[in-house]
Amino acid sequence: MNPVAQQKPAASQVVAGEHRKRIALFGSTGSIGTQALDVIAANPDKFVVTILTAHSNHELLIDQAKKFRPQAVVIVEDAKYNATRQALSGMGIQVMGGQQSLEDAAALDCYDMMLAAIVGFAGLRPTLKAIEHGRSIALANKETLVVAGDIVMQRAVEKRTPVIPVDSEHSAIFQCLVGETRNRIEKIILTASGGPFLGKKPNYLVNVKREHALQHPNWSMGAKISIDSATLMNKGLEMIEARWLFNLKPEQIQVVVHPQSIIHSMVQFEDGSVKAQMGLPDMKLPIQYAMAFPQRIPNVFPRFDFAKSTQLSFEPPDIKTFRNLGLSMEALYKGGNLPAVLNAANEISVYGFLRNRIGFLDMTEVIERTMQKIPFIAKPSLEEYFESDAEARNFAASLLNL
Ligand code: NDP
Ligand code: MG
Repeated sequence: MNPVAQQKPAASQVVAGEHRKRIALFGSTGSIGTQALDVIAANPDKFVVTILTAHSNHELLIDQAKKFRPQAVVIVEDAKYNATRQALSGMGIQVMGGQQSLEDAAALDCYDMMLAAIVGFAGLRPTLKAIEHGRSIALANKETLVVAGDIVMQRAVEKRTPVIPVDSEHSAIFQCLVGETRNRIEKIILTASGGPFLGKKPNYLVNVKREHALQHPNWSMGAKISIDSATLMNKGLEMIEARWLFNLKPEQIQVVVHPQSIIHSMVQFEDGSVKAQMGLPDMKLPIQYAMAFPQRIPNVFPRFDFAKSTQLSFEPPDIKTFRNLGLSMEALYKGGNLPAVLNAANEISVYGFLRNRIGFLDMTEVIERTMQKIPFIAKPSLEEYFESDAEARNFAASLLNL
């Protein structure tokens, strides 16, 4: 069955006006998190935020909590716990601290939908916990599906929990599939902007510095995904994300570079018809769509103007130069624990690059060597995914002398 058919709104998500959807915003201080709060603030009759979480930015978390008055907040970094608790004392907000509290918060009863906007592997456990408790998921954290997509989606099906994508490409595909529940997908076409180094070759990339790599032409995003976009790793992670979200075979997923980022992705059906979802690049739209699904809610975001004769162009990705995309495809096709290994090595590489410990092209070397080193497991259990992640992280860190 076409997976969108499974994405029924949960019983608690009744039509707007009858009651507000309670949102648990995991990763509220990030790029997605702050934009989600803008959407919530603009729609006070439809949404109320009941949980906010941050890793270390307690100052922003405190400001957000004072404004939105959630029932609970989580500050992961222990050293920031006391300051957060004191700042919010007397406000009736439960303040939780430490890594484990993310899962504890995900087990609370006070929300209908988790917006999973933590970056990286750290988002996996709380999202699994939310699924275990039958909560709907609006998923920005693609690493969750890259690491353990088969298990996450299986558990979501068992719990009849919708997993609605926030990633713009996947939101586009999801939107194209509405009304097509009985029709098979021939393939999906994921669009890629190409990032800040589109058209560049290795002799240029070897000297690229952090500040330059963080400048994305079309999107303003967190640091990790900005680097992933510059290396095209982001598109590789998105291929794996799409594989699980839409239950596809690897060969049904194509990437095309579309520098204007107006077509957010496309679906080709068995009759050859192609549906695209389009609009100006603005993450608030897919965030709002995921939170409000199946409704569309009006907004005042700028509109794309076709009359302004903007050119829409397409080209194949250069996987010889941007080898991270090729490595991701290898992980996608081989499956097993290889995507988890790829993801862990990438997280360490990006960390090293952002701290000027390694160069731009070295990131690929670290990932490739880690993929060669960690033993392959064809059908990992959840524990084996966690172990593969830890082993890959340790090995990649040893290559960087971290
Ligand atoms: P940011 O780096 O801007 O924000 C990350 C959020 O996660 C922050 O709230 C941060 O807290 C928190 N966080 C970081 N590390 C941990 C940890 N170890 N444990 C718990 N919380 C942690 O990321 P983005 O908002 O850009 O991205 C979030 C996710 O959404 C990523 O998976 C990304 O791939 C995906 N995504 C993002 C898009 C975008 O436009 N930004 C587009 C599509 C997908 P603190 O601020 O305290 O550090
Ligand atoms: Mg994307």
